[in-house]
Amino acid sequence: MTRYSAWSVFRNALTKQEDWDRAWRDPEPKPAYDVIIIGGGGHGLATAYYLARNHGITNVAVLEKGWLGGGNTGRNTTIVRSNYMLNANGHFYEHSLKLWEGLSQDLNYNVMFSQRGVLNIAHSSSQMESYSRRGNAMLLNGIDSELLSRDEVQKFVPDLNYSSNARFPIYGGLLQRRGGTARHDAVAWGLARGADMRGVDIIQNCEVTGILRDGDKVTGVETSRGTIRAPKIGVAVAGNTGRITEMVGMRVPIESHLLQAIVSEPLKPFIDTVVTFGVGHFYISQSDKGGLVLGGDLDGYNSYAQRGNLPTIEHVMACGVAMYPALSRIRMLRHWGGVMDMSMDGSPIIGKTPIKGFYLNCGWCYGGFKATPGSGHVFAHTIANDAPHPFNEDMTLERFSSGAVIDERGAGPTPNAH
Ligand SMILES: Cc1cc2nc3c(=O)[nH]c(=O)nc-3n(C[C@H](O)[C@H](O)[C@H](O)COP(=O)(O)OP(=O)(O)OC[C@H]3O[C@@H](n4cnc5c(N)ncnc54)[C@H](O)[C@@H]3O)c2cc1C
Repeated sequence: MTRYSAWSVFRNALTKQEDWDRAWRDPEPKPAYDVIIIGGGGHGLATAYYLARNHGITNVAVLEKGWLGGGNTGRNTTIVRSNYMLNANGHFYEHSLKLWEGLSQDLNYNVMFSQRGVLNIAHSSSQMESYSRRGNAMLLNGIDSELLSRDEVQKFVPDLNYSSNARFPIYGGLLQRRGGTARHDAVAWGLARGADMRGVDIIQNCEVTGILRDGDKVTGVETSRGTIRAPKIGVAVAGNTGRITEMVGMRVPIESHLLQAIVSEPLKPFIDTVVTFGVGHFYISQSDKGGLVLGGDLDGYNSYAQRGNLPTIEHVMACGVAMYPALSRIRMLRHWGGVMDMSMDGSPIIGKTPIKGFYLNCGWCYGGFKATPGSGHVFAHTIANDAPHPFNEDMTLERFSSGAVIDERGAGPTPNAH
């Protein structure tokens, strides 16, 4: 596999760029592997990558029913941050953010990680207090965080609605400067290339239709391309988690909801950070192509569909125009949706299950893209050692029966409030 560098670009120019290696192979599935990962999104690919890179486990297959990154990984608004209040989430997402900071070099693939900052706007004095509490908790956990006054917010993002008759007055904001965005497709492609280089088989158009068991342990999967055996199976299928766990007779505390996003026509540089609105659910950033990328709340019903409804888009735009009046003059180009795996405490599940060799990675709610490297890193550790990594030891499935939930809904998703 060619290492990407300025020299390799120059050398390939001499042969009209026609001699590049394929970024990953297209192998036929083998009859058996040491580990099968179900789901070729960012989390499944990152898990396979770290299994090979950190644990020397290379006899691995990633089974993807469609194409790589065709799920939420290729549909999200790419915000990366670690601004959580509770310890378990704070340490885990900070671990992930640190991996992001070196990911392009590690993969030898530019994932276009841009630390342009993530700013949460506060619209009341009580919201400033809760941001201050979260910011202090972050600082105590060694995570960067700054509480900005109204004037500092205005200096940082001049185009918000600061007028005296603004419907939602601005009191200040919580800024994480190390947060930002990354290019979602590149993340999937870079991880796929890195895993493939180390011997992992990435098998697309291969839907898992059944799980094979021998008593209390798994032995393999039935797929649209035949039976494949393995003593260990990692599930990373986001909104389809319930469908896979149903195959082993297991119910999980996950609801599948649709989440939409919108992108505008390309514009000149206008917003050089990520801004979130603190009253409704609305956030905005600008892509490198110039499109404004906007997102908001879930469509309020359970669904496995990847297409949403216009009232939600209208709601997002209403929030957007209240915050950024100039948006009312901008044309929107496209909108799309993905199926979110909403956990009931707003935090992920990464770990073992009561079935031997069957591991779960789900519950990412609105925010699993930023977790991609961290999630793959600790999930690979869990599968390789049959024991959690310190960063996911609280993110168990059992917490929903023991009561030790990681209740972070105040800082994000509230699926059961819809
Ligand atoms: C509109 C939108 C905006 C978002 N914005 C952000 C954001 O700004 N920041 C952030 O951090 N997160 C965001 N997210 C969430 C984030 O995208 C996801 O949490 C994350 O990408 C999930 O990655 P994954 O690998 O778990 O799932 P996916 O990328 O969905 O991958 C799962 C894969 O499993 C495959 N699969 C399913 N069933 C089977 C089967 N039976 N057999 C084989 N394969 C199967 C699917 O085809 C899919 O490719 C957003 C999501 C959406 C939809």
